[in-house]
Amino acid sequence: MKSFDLSGRVAVVTGGNGGIGLGMARGLAAAGAKVVVAGRNPAKSAAAAKELGGIAITVDLLKESDCKKLIQETARQMGRLDILVNNAGINIRKQPQEYSMAEYHEVMNTNLTSAFHCSQLAYAEMKKAGGGKIINIGSMMSIFGASFTTPYASSKGGIVQMSRAMACAWAKDNIQVNSVLPGWIDTDLTRRARTDVAGLHERVLARTPAGRWGEPGDFAGIAVFLASAASDFLTGTAIAVDGGYSVQG
Ligand code: NDP
Repeated sequence: MKSFDLSGRVAVVTGGNGGIGLGMARGLAAAGAKVVVAGRNPAKSAAAAKELGGIAITVDLLKESDCKKLIQETARQMGRLDILVNNAGINIRKQPQEYSMAEYHEVMNTNLTSAFHCSQLAYAEMKKAGGGKIINIGSMMSIFGASFTTPYASSKGGIVQMSRAMACAWAKDNIQVNSVLPGWIDTDLTRRARTDVAGLHERVLARTPAGRWGEPGDFAGIAVFLASAASDFLTGTAIAVDGGYSVQG
């Protein structure tokens, strides 16, 4: 179907070198997009870029200068920017009273502030291209709370509201901004929790109507949809990709 075709488009995927980001990047590349993989680990990013037929740019998104480098280098090396997936994210699990402010800022700046900054920087490039698509990765913690995840939940709640506000601001420029809320997905981020937190694996299976953990490959379709003309009248929404986790009472 032509409206899902991404030929000629350039997509930046932060954290595109593994997990959910790589699942999305694979979908975008399969639909014809040229993918820029942005991550901290050069070897991991180079391997992903090679597989995808794209390029890798090494960045630490905690640094404002690296957000700038990412967008500038993309424009310089690829000539345009049409799609930005703000996917890079971390979690530090503690009770709220136990976080240092440095830990709080690390989570907020990685998950939310860098997404704001990259989007802001991408805006000019997307305007030049006649429009664009921004896909922000939230979480079930955009909707629910949990005792051990206050900065993470704050950042992921912020992702949804940031997407709505940007959607309103940039609709006139033909830029659509949406968020995707993953359920429990089997990646590096959750693998440690799965072994460290007793009973987590069983609780996830019991709570998820689909009866399984999600896989990075479950995010290829939503990425293509939200990055393509097929979703041109969709903006400001938050779509759960969670095997039904958020609708089970
Ligand atoms: P991974 O740990 O596999 O991936 C995280 C990615 O973020 C890595 O590619 C990492 O790159 C990148 N990253 C982290 N910090 C930085 C930084 N400072 N600068 C640049 N890149 C950075 O986890 P997931 O795939 O699970 O997570 C992807 C997104 O999905 C996150 O936003 C996460 O919060 C969200 N999510 C995940 C869920 C799950 O169950 N897995 C559930 C809900 C949301 P590198 O390795 O090079 O450092």
